Amino acid sequence: MEFFPIFLKLRQQPCLLVGGGEVALRKARLLLAAGAALTVAAPELAPELAEMAERGELKHLGARYAAEQLAGMRLAVAATDDAAVNRQVAADAEARGILVNVVDDAEASRYISPAVIDRSPLMVAVASGGSVPVMARQVRARLESLIPAGYGRLARFGSMFRDAVKARFPDVDSRRRFWETVLEGPLADMVMNGDEAAARTEMEKRIAAGAEAPRGAVYLVGAGPGNPDLLTFRALRLMQQADVVLYDKLVAPELLELVRRDAERVYVGKARANHALPQDDINQLMVTLAKQGKRVLRLKGGDPFTFGRGGEEIATLAEQSIPFEVVPGITSASGAAAYAGIPLTHRDYAQSVTFVTGHKQDGSIDLDWQALTRPQQTVVVYMGVSTAAELCQAFVEHGRGADTPAAAVEWATTERQRTVCGTLSSLPGLMASHGIASPALIIVGEVVELADKLAWFRRSENSAVTIRED
Ligand code: SAH
Repeated sequence: MEFFPIFLKLRQQPCLLVGGGEVALRKARLLLAAGAALTVAAPELAPELAEMAERGELKHLGARYAAEQLAGMRLAVAATDDAAVNRQVAADAEARGILVNVVDDAEASRYISPAVIDRSPLMVAVASGGSVPVMARQVRARLESLIPAGYGRLARFGSMFRDAVKARFPDVDSRRRFWETVLEGPLADMVMNGDEAAARTEMEKRIAAGAEAPRGAVYLVGAGPGNPDLLTFRALRLMQQADVVLYDKLVAPELLELVRRDAERVYVGKARANHALPQDDINQLMVTLAKQGKRVLRLKGGDPFTFGRGGEEIATLAEQSIPFEVVPGITSASGAAAYAGIPLTHRDYAQSVTFVTGHKQDGSIDLDWQALTRPQQTVVVYMGVSTAAELCQAFVEHGRGADTPAAAVEWATTERQRTVCGTLSSLPGLMASHGIASPALIIVGEVVELADKLAWFRRSENSAVTIRED
């Protein structure tokens, strides 16, 4: 271990920063965030540093560096662009027993600054001994995605109850178990979502009862259109904490691989005419599992509140007072649009976009055709593969030109993505001849023409052919 990691209490401690440029500015921000009493020695200051000095956040010495400036300092940072000056600062600080850091010069430094994830009071610091700082920054970026933004709030919340919990659970093991149920369960979600008052009441109740917090909760999570890179951080974190996952056909296998390995997986899929589990049974199953104390992940393709029956699924939970959370996902229309190069709105071609379902209710497609056939708009049809011919015909019958551009995007955003482009009159035939099957979206409107120019995804691969009629 070449560097010994410590966290330093700098509040109101005199610190000297030598240098007034951009690098110094970054250092100044960090030192001020830690509450240091900061003096900056530099003949000239970058504009932002000058503003900080004007606001009285730091003291500016408008002189060149001189060793006397170190008098009384606890810590020094050399951040000028002159290596000789920096080394002089280091030597002078060393001679006075002052901790010193030279920017980009680990050898001359007594201490180095790590890459930091700040969820105060929780701090994570990553360092590479100054040798490969980029690597430390990359590790930090990965950790950032794993540690929720609300974690600091949770840490502060926890610290308020430290003594009370210790008194109620004198035994180390039971105390650890108690904290685990608190920090991973719905109580923690309450804190991180900002409902601290409710969390406090609940926490006091738990401590008084000497009982572990219940962990059972349901997370209705949008998994996006299929490409794992398009998950949200929140979705990924919940996938890694789940005890049980309920999923259906739209959730790509690549996504399921990201769910915690020992989580139980339950397929509740609904192929269109082949209901594997009726909706009521799914609702009831979620209630039962949550009541058993399980963290239930209800994983949905796309966004749970866009043609996902998400509203119905959580209504039962709300009635039974089961804690639940809804996590939005990228809906397939957004995914398909981006990955097929078809902007849904465009200043010249479409001022609005409408999402509809092509699914038949009682044997007919019941849509507001008058509204849908107005010009200058894009219509995206979900669940419309099997009714594509009827749909396209209805568009024409109700007044959109037969030559209006129309496309179908199958398995959007995934390696299997295929796009076929044509017109309202040619699209059904193209879909049939290319065997376009569910899941696919139909996009109707002038914006479809832009795909020629804007498609970028897997352009060079045959698997993502864009087919146009001649
Ligand atoms: N909640 C989902 C939609 C569920 S309805 C969402 O927000 O995307 C199911 C329909 O979504 C499918 O019939 C298909 O039209 C569309 N769909 C879902 N994933 C898709 C994908 N990767 N590519 C194309 N269409 C998709």
